[in-house]
Amino acid sequence: MSRGEVNIVGAGLAGPLLAMLLARRGFAVTLYERREDPRHASAVAGRSINLALAARGIRALEHAGLMTSVRPLMIPMRGRMVHELGRPPALLPYGQRETEVIYSVGRAALNRLLIDEAAGQPDITLRFGEACEAVSPARDRLVLNVLQGDRAGAVVRPGEASARREVSLAPTIATDGAGSAVRASLAAQELVAVREEPLDHDYKELAIPPAAGRHALDPNALHVWPRRGFMLIALPNTDGSFTATLFLPRQGAQGFAVLGGGGTVDAFFAREFPDARPLVPDLERQFHEHPQGRLGTVHAAPWHIGCELLLLGDAAHAIVPFHGQGMNAAFEDCRVLDELIDRHENWKARFAAFEAERRPNAEAIARMAVENYGEMREAVLEPSF
Ligand code: FAD
Repeated sequence: MSRGEVNIVGAGLAGPLLAMLLARRGFAVTLYERREDPRHASAVAGRSINLALAARGIRALEHAGLMTSVRPLMIPMRGRMVHELGRPPALLPYGQRETEVIYSVGRAALNRLLIDEAAGQPDITLRFGEACEAVSPARDRLVLNVLQGDRAGAVVRPGEASARREVSLAPTIATDGAGSAVRASLAAQELVAVREEPLDHDYKELAIPPAAGRHALDPNALHVWPRRGFMLIALPNTDGSFTATLFLPRQGAQGFAVLGGGGTVDAFFAREFPDARPLVPDLERQFHEHPQGRLGTVHAAPWHIGCELLLLGDAAHAIVPFHGQGMNAAFEDCRVLDELIDRHENWKARFAAFEAERRPNAEAIARMAVENYGEMREAVLEPSF
């Protein structure tokens, strides 16, 4: 017999994992996602293509019994390969033992795998093309915007015919990411205080294709080109390519603002990243076509409203990506909440215990992630490091 219903808003990385853990505990879970089913759609450009998966994330995936399926997606990275100007690349190992590694994993493949595994469970209902518009704890309502007609199950475009649907909160767990609509709705009702700390550096992703069918750089390392005020990094993909990410200030002499047409991008790469420049043959085209992403930290409090609502993952604590820990922390959130279920009788107590346990960790990793930007682009250049 079902232990009751739970809604989850957002089928990114945390949502499907949490759905599986709750279904295993006997809850009937409905997972709402505004996008179309990623198993039948092309990857969305602009979100990071690959991610560093580390011990906390792996432990949560193991806890859910998913590591056998996830392992083929993982490439071990045994350290940072530092590319200093005018010197050969040098590896700074992550640990002292060979097993102390982190892994590169493709976001789209991991997301598809998690959704596929969740779809295979009878107690999980997946509803794609249904975007949360608002929540009302006072009226016990989760308000959804659902696309109608031929494109049902796809993303609602502005101005397109859609219908509103309302369901009971049940409770509802928001895993709708850094720009969480649930969090925004609660903030508009002054139920949650939100402080966003934008970073004045943006990012842009660039693909490094395979060279002669193989990775163009050592595939078992996270490559970093630290340049003090900015940096380039690259993580390997299983298809032989790398995804490079350029982090630059928005403004200033070495910022995105000065990189426009007229060969400025090419000249910048030739000067700052001469060994990386030949690896991106269509650099100018990619640079102009790929979106420039914003980064920042989200501080929200509280994360839960009574027994009705909980923010989890990026919706509760989005951080800058320099420790590679946002997904790992979101996965760890799922494991911790799962372990609290049988220790407490009701959702109010579970949500309160979750927030008490996770908030200090989330605040710590948020600070460390900002500090690590300095380490990656500057400190690694110091001999003392
Ligand atoms: P998401 O994965 O963002 O999922 C949110 C989901 O909610 C999406 O599917 C979205 O479509 C859906 N959604 C949004 N709004 C609505 C709505 N109104 N209704 C219904 N659905 C909605 N983390 C790491 O651990 N390692 C890394 O190496 C790493 N690198 C990163 C690099 C970059 C450039 C960036 C930007 C982030 C990186 N992160 C990394 C962080 C990581 O991407 C996030 O922490 C992680 O995706 C959080 O998972 P989530 O499930 O909370 O949110």
